[in-house]
Amino acid sequence: MNKQHIIDRFVKYVTVDTESDPNNPAFPSTEKQWNLARILEKELKEIGMEDVELDENCYLMATLPSNLDYEVPTIGFVAHIDTSPDFTGKDVKPQIHENYDGKDILLNKEENIVLSPDYFEDLLQYKGQTIITTDGTTLLGADDKAGVTEIVSAMEFLIQNPEIKHGKIRICFTPDEEVGKGAHLFDVEKFGAEWAYTMDGSQIGELEYENFNAAGATVTIEGKIVHPGYAKGKLINSMLIASEFINALPEDEVPERTTGYEGFFHLHHMEGKVEQTKLHYIIRDHDMDQFNNRKKAMLDLAEVLNAKQGKKLISVEIKDQYFNMKEKVVPVMHIVDIAEEVMKDMGITPLIKPIRGGTDGSQLSYKGLPCPNIFAGGHNFHGRYEYVPVESIIKATEVIVGIAQKVAVKFQ
Ligand SMILES: [Zn+2]
Repeated sequence: MNKQHIIDRFVKYVTVDTESDPNNPAFPSTEKQWNLARILEKELKEIGMEDVELDENCYLMATLPSNLDYEVPTIGFVAHIDTSPDFTGKDVKPQIHENYDGKDILLNKEENIVLSPDYFEDLLQYKGQTIITTDGTTLLGADDKAGVTEIVSAMEFLIQNPEIKHGKIRICFTPDEEVGKGAHLFDVEKFGAEWAYTMDGSQIGELEYENFNAAGATVTIEGKIVHPGYAKGKLINSMLIASEFINALPEDEVPERTTGYEGFFHLHHMEGKVEQTKLHYIIRDHDMDQFNNRKKAMLDLAEVLNAKQGKKLISVEIKDQYFNMKEKVVPVMHIVDIAEEVMKDMGITPLIKPIRGGTDGSQLSYKGLPCPNIFAGGHNFHGRYEYVPVESIIKATEVIVGIAQKVAVKFQ
């Protein structure tokens, strides 16, 4: 792999602003995502990919045909082209720090913005490597343009090295992942892969096939307003009942007190007046039974408090958001094993851990395309301290090549 070529490619992608917009129901949510999609469409044709097709929803798919004389499963690789609306992705000015010395990296002199290993210890594992950072005023967009870079570079490498044997490979770049819609209009049938990998994880070695089951709950509490001077026995303060509801949920089962496989109830915003209060929760759990128990616990609590009031003041509306892909991946566990073996063969320690969130891969898995997530190499996503070691981008590219090779051998 040519390091400078990979750096140039990554820089080309991150300097195209592709921020998505959670408040725009259009698809894609921002027109500017087309700019990168069109650049990639052209580039995929140039490197020799086949069936390059950018559809009307801004999904870009392409094929690398098999060079085998026997049949193996078609596999896919997926990355997203948009960047997070959490922080600006306009005028990204990537800074390249060669041979990182393990000390503070000054991102921005005027504003004195420093990326320090004192705070971000992970930096120290990349001593001696080439680190790409922001200039402190934008995000970098390694999430997920590192993933895009890796997929394009791996396809180019396989095309240029036809002695490496592989089956048919499909690739797809999606819009709007950061606003939760990346899988919505993904045409799984047209993609036609037996399984795929999103290249959208963080640090080198990450391999993920478990994510949260997720639901949103809105708790509505009705009150009754009466002049406070004449309110005895009449006024019902919905905010005080709301606080009872809040306090009755387990106090340790909140995001700030949980990790690993521990689930939670998270009150993320509320609005209240005497007459009506609304509590907006998200519910998260890796385990499906525990997840259902959490939903039931909220409904039961409403019943208990309603009984105490002697009337139905509290109603709870729960909507499922996404589910743990584990259910869809475990029956085809070899797809994880293949990625794990490839990493081990390369001397990378696989970091297999549950995602405390969701991925496009979970939605794709439920649409019939089992889709674990592999590291793309970046750190500190969605903010000014985002960075990526070039060596990790190269390793991820090699993992893609390695998976293609391993599938050809395993299914011989
Ligand atoms: Zn991402």
